[in-house]
Amino acid sequence: MNGNTQLIGILGYPVSQSKSPVMHNAVFTELGLNWAYVPLPVHPDQMERALKGLIALGFRGANVTIPYKETVLPFMNDLSPSAHAINAVNTISVTPDGRLLGDNTDASGFIEDLQENNIDVQNSTALILGAGGSARAILYGLLQAGCHEVTLLNRSLDKAHQVVQEISASFAKTNIQTDILDETNLARFSNANLIINCTSLGMKANADQMPWYDHISFHKGQIVYDLIYNPNPTRFLEKAQQDGARILNGLGMLVHQGVLSFTIWTGVQPPIEIMRKAILE
Ligand code: NAP
Repeated sequence: MNGNTQLIGILGYPVSQSKSPVMHNAVFTELGLNWAYVPLPVHPDQMERALKGLIALGFRGANVTIPYKETVLPFMNDLSPSAHAINAVNTISVTPDGRLLGDNTDASGFIEDLQENNIDVQNSTALILGAGGSARAILYGLLQAGCHEVTLLNRSLDKAHQVVQEISASFAKTNIQTDILDETNLARFSNANLIINCTSLGMKANADQMPWYDHISFHKGQIVYDLIYNPNPTRFLEKAQQDGARILNGLGMLVHQGVLSFTIWTGVQPPIEIMRKAILE
């Protein structure tokens, strides 16, 4: 690093668990770009000052992670169509005249991972578990990719309704059901072709939990996707694999959303395998 190094940050709380610094810095090194990606843990009452700090310190951009993807919205000078529709920002660009542009690469990152794995979205019936920031992006991505039959289950039903109402407003033809995430509804919708965990149940801190029940079976031919990639596999994916379903964790989505963010900041298409390798190592 020297006086010309261009900086990118990641805003979250905490951020120490994030794999994004290692992923992006590996590509900066590989491509010989004088850029650096730094973790920026921001206390909840400091977000507005932190965003002004990005501008003041000459940062070129930032990622936004849990729990701030919605918090940063009011501080953006402009939003991309996807960030606007999803109502969440995971990528910020700082313009030379000090404006903050909010984008969302989670939805496209998820869909690109499905495409890379030859998963047919258009003819799938999908079941989304959760209604937080990532569920918003997944629902938007699926609808945009042509999946018309989606069910979304969440612990807090009012949040599920709100997410579906907001996201579906951008689409003419949709068939979306919402209900509470409980044993009865999981059994009722367990036949979906594509089942995606967008809850935080099963992350390293609560690795023994899952948003599913042992006695509800997955089956062969189903795709079961967990946005969580640490631990690998989660208890949810372990169960799905035992039942014969095909499983995917969130590593592919992380890498693909990273590729898109990297391109937004630098204008350069990064080598995806370097990013994947950096995380796995
Ligand atoms: P979030 O906005 O905090 O939403 C959390 C969701 O989990 C909510 O729907 C919440 O339900 C549900 N939940 C939490 N505890 C629960 C419990 N005990 N029982 C049932 N439901 C529970 O988080 P997020 O941003 O959507 O992220 C969710 C997960 O996706 C995280 O593990 C995150 O690391 C992962 N993620 C991965 C990627 C990737 O690139 N692979 C990208 C984004 C996120 P309520 O609404 O009822 O509270």
